Amino acid sequence: MESLKLKSKLLYLLLLVGFALIVVGLIGYINIQNIKRNMDTLYFGSLVPLSELNAITDTYHSELASPIYRWSNQLLSDEQAAEEISLGIERVNHLWGAYLSHYKRAEELPYVHYTEGKINLLEEYFMQVRALISDPDKSYPISLSVLHENVELIHTTIQKLIDYEKKVAQYEHEILLAQYKNALTQLILFLGVMLSLVMGLAWKIFARIELQQQQLIESTETLQHLNLKLEQASYTDSLTALYNRRYFNVVYEREFKRALRSGTPFVFMMLDIDFFKQYNDTYGHIQGDTALQAVAKVIKHTLQRPGDYPFRLGGEEFGMILTDTDCNNAKLMGEKVRVSIDNLRIEHKGSKILPTLSVSIGGICIIPTAQIAEDALIHTADTNLYAAKERGRNQVVFSTNL
Ligand code: GH3
Ligand code: MG
Ligand code: MG
Repeated sequence: MESLKLKSKLLYLLLLVGFALIVVGLIGYINIQNIKRNMDTLYFGSLVPLSELNAITDTYHSELASPIYRWSNQLLSDEQAAEEISLGIERVNHLWGAYLSHYKRAEELPYVHYTEGKINLLEEYFMQVRALISDPDKSYPISLSVLHENVELIHTTIQKLIDYEKKVAQYEHEILLAQYKNALTQLILFLGVMLSLVMGLAWKIFARIELQQQQLIESTETLQHLNLKLEQASYTDSLTALYNRRYFNVVYEREFKRALRSGTPFVFMMLDIDFFKQYNDTYGHIQGDTALQAVAKVIKHTLQRPGDYPFRLGGEEFGMILTDTDCNNAKLMGEKVRVSIDNLRIEHKGSKILPTLSVSIGGICIIPTAQIAEDALIHTADTNLYAAKERGRNQVVFSTNL
């Protein structure tokens, strides 16, 4: 359960990280796209410096040369022409100032200065022309071809600057485009690497949880197995491997009640080794234990049915509960146990009845009724055992109410 919770938590974390990465990626992508758009706008949308340079060229044509032509055709008065020339010069200076205020790269500065020199020269020229126009004596004629040449020259000069600016803009744009692609690739790479790392890490953690889960299952199984063994051990007598006294109490009560309910015979027999005190005295306790094991083995082998239960009740006393059997058969089973032990021919020099080990058995077989107390059977079996001892031992005394 814990590992399941852990797994779903990890899954949420993974989804969160994945979501965060996607958001970061999206933000990055949008920003990169924005930068590109801004660059495009800056270099190809407004093209402020270029429009300023174009405006300068236009001013030379329409606001400086044109008034002079019109003046020479008597379309403008001296004052009007002089006024327009002043305005034209002022406008050129203003536009040039604006153009200069933009950032200039070191490489373009020489040509900018060159152009500025030309503009200054032309300004002087137009000032002279204005002075000549304003001169009431008209001492010098104004050459329209010189005017044409000058305007053409400045036009060409400025056009070169425009071409240069365009090239630079294109070059800058290409560089930015490359940077943009680079940034995009880096972003995709970063996201890819991060995602792979997160996935790899998650995979490892998943595998670890899986392993721990497996280990937990295995240790639980081992524990269950051990518990079972422990339970069995708590029901088993360690010397003889028969059921012990504790389990006898459980089985006796359970089977007595079952027989009471089902109205079937219930058999209980007690077995006691004859003159066992002498046996121990003669052969020692260790060999006494071996004899106990041999007796237990016979009991176990004789009571083979699923409804038969052999017990070691304590010391050299054994108990037998038989269910699902009739009283005649039960008595025969007791007899069979006694004979089988007799047939073991275990030497017993201390026995006062035989040269070999023998047992006495007291048994009772009844169909329980509500009037019969549960422990009455134990008492009767014990009395019968005592009777068997009294009658000379190595025998079965069996009673029944049927
Ligand atoms: P009886 O024929 O009347 O039964 O005589 P008995 O000597 O067998 O008398 P009793 O049944 O009272 O014997 C009990 C003896 O059983 C005492 C003790 O020496 C022996 N004994 C009890 N428990 C053990 C045991 O675990 N191991 C061994 N070796 N001897 C035991
Ligand atoms: Mg005894
Ligand atoms: Mg005895």
